[in-house]
Amino acid sequence: MRVFTEERDWGQFHDPKSLILALVGEVGELAELFQWLPADAAVDRAREDRLHERAGEELADVLIYLVRLADVLDIDLADAALRKLRGSSARFPAEEVRGQAPDKS
Ligand SMILES: [Mg+2]
Repeated sequence: MRVFTEERDWGQFHDPKSLILALVGEVGELAELFQWLPADAAVDRAREDRLHERAGEELADVLIYLVRLADVLDIDLADAALRKLRGSSARFPAEEVRGQAPDKS
């Protein structure tokens, strides 16, 4: 993504605010694909060819902007995600929360 951006001299447009708005826009496009599907049918419908392809495209857009934002902010996204996952594992021990929705408090 960095090379793609540099080759096009688009880095000048990739301030954090603009990238966050682009990311949110792509999340919105992903949400739009599912917004009127019955919740209990969404997984099965998403396996159908057309929706599967479109969901993949929008997920890729989300990932691309997320990775670019992390790069601009000099955040090691893989390391940050692993740290978050370790924290969540400690906060929600599987043997204590298995099958329960996380407590929001
Ligand atoms: Mg898109």
